[in-house]
Amino acid sequence: MAVTVLANATLVLTDRLVPNASVAFEDGRLVEIGAARTGAIDLHGMYLAPGFVDLHVHGGDGADFMDSTADAFRTVCQCHAKHGTTSLTPTSTVATGPQYDRFLALCAELYGDVPNGARIIGSHFYGPYFARPARGCHPDQEFLVPNAENAERFTQLAGQMPLVVTVAPEIENAEWLVRTYVGRGVRFNAGHSHATFEQVEAAVSWGVRHVDHLFCAMSDRARLRLSQTYPMRGGVLEATLFFDELTTEVIADGKHLTPDLLRLAYKVKGPDRLALVTDSMRAVDLPDGEYWFGADGSGERVLKQDGVGVTLDGTALASCVMGMDHCLRTMHFAASVPLPEAVRMATLTPAHILGVEKELGSLEVGKRADLVVLDRELSVRHVYIGGERIV
Ligand SMILES: [Zn+2]
Repeated sequence: MAVTVLANATLVLTDRLVPNASVAFEDGRLVEIGAARTGAIDLHGMYLAPGFVDLHVHGGDGADFMDSTADAFRTVCQCHAKHGTTSLTPTSTVATGPQYDRFLALCAELYGDVPNGARIIGSHFYGPYFARPARGCHPDQEFLVPNAENAERFTQLAGQMPLVVTVAPEIENAEWLVRTYVGRGVRFNAGHSHATFEQVEAAVSWGVRHVDHLFCAMSDRARLRLSQTYPMRGGVLEATLFFDELTTEVIADGKHLTPDLLRLAYKVKGPDRLALVTDSMRAVDLPDGEYWFGADGSGERVLKQDGVGVTLDGTALASCVMGMDHCLRTMHFAASVPLPEAVRMATLTPAHILGVEKELGSLEVGKRADLVVLDRELSVRHVYIGGERIV
C-alpha cells in the first residue's frame, strides 16, 4: 500500500495542538507525525485526532449487541464509526443465560476489524453480576451469584482478547470471583452497585481497577443514609473519587450529568483516570420513540426523547442516544475541558484502561492509522480506520 499523507492539519496530540502539520501512514500504521509537508489530502487546518475508543456501548442505528446476530454487531460498529469511534468493546446488558453465551461467542467471532465499522478490541461483559437494586434501566432478568460454573463459562474469552467483567462488590462471592480471575487476565469493573466506601476499598484490594459510569447506578452518601441515619457513609461515588487506583468513566452526553458534575469528575480524577463513554443504545441516529434496551423483543422498553433515553414513565434515565463526537463536544464546549485533554479522555485514556495503549489512542509512529478529522465545531468530517477512509 502506498503512503498516504494528510497535510495542513491541526494535530490533536495528547498534551497540545500542533497547527499546520501532517501525518503519514502506510499499511494501516502511522509512519510520520508532525512534519509540515504537502500531500495529496489537504485538511485546510481542520483538527486531526486519534480515533475514539469507546469502552461502554450497547447499540446504535437500530441494533444492539444483545440482538444475538453478527449483523447486529456490524451495524452498531458502523453506526459508531460515523461518530468517530474507531475501536470499541461491545457491552452486554442484563439478559438470560443463552443470551450471555451468544454475546460472548459473537465477541470472539468478530474480534478485530469490522468492515466500515469500529474495530472490536475486547469485550465488556456486563449484567449478571450487578446488584439487583442497582440495575437501573436494565431488564430484571438473570442476576447470578458468581460460582465456578458460570464464571468459567463467562471468562473463556480472556485468553483471546481483553475481557472486562463488571461486578457489584457487595454481592455474594464477589471477592472469590475477582481474586480468582484477575490472575487469569480478566479486568474487573465495579458497577451497578450500592456498595459502601469500605466495600469498594476491599474490592480495590482484590484487584478491581475501574468503575462504570460515575454518578450513575451507584451508591452515594445520600442513598446509604436511607439505611443508616448516622454516621453518614460514603458509597461507590465517594470511593471512586478517592482511590487513585480506580479509573472511571462519564457519560458525557450533557443529559445524564450537568457540566458541573463533568467538571467535578475531571478535576478530581484528571484526564488520565477519566474516560468518556457513550453507553449508548440502539436509538443512536434514529428518531424519537420507543425502543428495546438490550435484546430485540426481550429487553426493556425505553423512550428516546430530548436527546436521551428515559424509562417509559419518564422518571429515570435509560442510557445515551448519541455518539462519541457529541460527548467530546459536551466535554470541551460545555464543561470547558481543553481540547487535547478532552480528546485524550476519548482516546488514550480508554486505550490505557483496556491495556491496548501501545496499539491505539494517540498520534504516534507505529500505532494504528485510526484517525478522525473534525471541524472547528468538532463535527466529524472524515474517519480512517487502519488507514482506510470510511467517512
Ligand atoms: Zn450501566
